[in-house]
Amino acid sequence: MIRKNPHYSKLQASYLFANIAERVGKFQQENPDREIIKLGIGDVTLPLPPSIVQAFHDAVDDMATSAGFHGYGPEKGYPFLREAIAQAEFISRGTSITADDIFVSDGAKCDTGNFQELFAQNIQVAVPDPVYPVYVDTNVMAGRTGQWNDGRYEGLRYLEGNETNGYVPLPAADLKADLVYLCFPNNPTGVTATKEQLKVWVDWALENRSLILFDAAYVSFIRDENLPQTIFEIPGAEKCAVEFRSFSKNAGFTGTRCAYTIISDKCVIWDESGEEIPLKPLWSRRHTTKFNGVSYPVQKAAEAVFSPEGKKEVRELTDYYLENARLIKKGMEALGYSCIGGGNSPYIWVSGGMPSWDAFDLLLNKAGVVITPGEGFGKCGSGYFRISAFNDREKVNEAMERIALALK
Ligand SMILES: *Cc1c(COP(=O)(O)O)cnc(C)c1O
Repeated sequence: MIRKNPHYSKLQASYLFANIAERVGKFQQENPDREIIKLGIGDVTLPLPPSIVQAFHDAVDDMATSAGFHGYGPEKGYPFLREAIAQAEFISRGTSITADDIFVSDGAKCDTGNFQELFAQNIQVAVPDPVYPVYVDTNVMAGRTGQWNDGRYEGLRYLEGNETNGYVPLPAADLKADLVYLCFPNNPTGVTATKEQLKVWVDWALENRSLILFDAAYVSFIRDENLPQTIFEIPGAEKCAVEFRSFSKNAGFTGTRCAYTIISDKCVIWDESGEEIPLKPLWSRRHTTKFNGVSYPVQKAAEAVFSPEGKKEVRELTDYYLENARLIKKGMEALGYSCIGGGNSPYIWVSGGMPSWDAFDLLLNKAGVVITPGEGFGKCGSGYFRISAFNDREKVNEAMERIALALK
């Protein structure tokens, strides 16, 4: 008898975005003439920039010739892309990361979700709250938690973000965890972590022989020069952290699919007999067994992100969304709401003054604007909502006008 993985029964039936889609669908059915503006889900709206599209096209043309045809590529990614990434993002910032430490993949969602496979079943996992749900659900599926109980999974350790700690939870003196997920600039709160704050985490991980999984999907939105651009700028991080990056949010690759994971040779974990072992070969084994590479045209398109023209275009894309974020934040603050995020991230986290699904329904019904209820990201998100800056400028302006009318 084929039987179900029992851990799947613990998952919360209605995933956040499914619940939103259901409410939006119902509203649209009842108000067929009302145009809805979506500032909810974190998907980009601007098209791929010209020089990146050109590289994409050229690579497709290569595929039509005997000389330029590419079959299976190297599972870790083509050296041309890994070297471009290493140079532009890591060597230039003085870190010890090289092209050999980079694994190209089809998404940071998959990588952050799959990475937990490398670890023992009975490790202690800690996640922030609020949190990107992928980190939590993939550990639930793997059986590392107990049941869902009062808004949380038993057995998981939650690192609470709140107004007191500015949504940057730091390890308490007695924190015991083997694996910690961190994400800066953060989804959903939009906050960033300083070098000093990341150093506290790195020092803690080194002392406790723990591993940090650092999700830097939004790093290209950082404008403040004092903020770290990679966790590997923190001394010792190469020994205790893995970083995840993506072309989705900076270069508009959400539908094109390309991302990468960075693991230094110096990064170690411990085996069942307490022996120290390097982590990189484990991910290499997993990646090359279960993944067959990102397509050649997509990797050529990704490489173009690092050309002088590509860099300029990607900067313009992220500047555009950051200006949206500024307008949203300004608009909400003018209405008397306290907000964080924005400046170095495409998300604004708003203190709503009411339960977050009530705020969701209010904004949908009165303004025709879709936002994301904070509760969907964890218990600490209750009473808050996230507004995404991923939309066209006119839509953002109109949304803010409608919200102002609705909330006045
Ligand atoms: C969008 C996002 C990603 C990127 O996912 P891809 O699979 O590369 O598109 C990763 N982490 C977070 C927190 C995100 O919001």
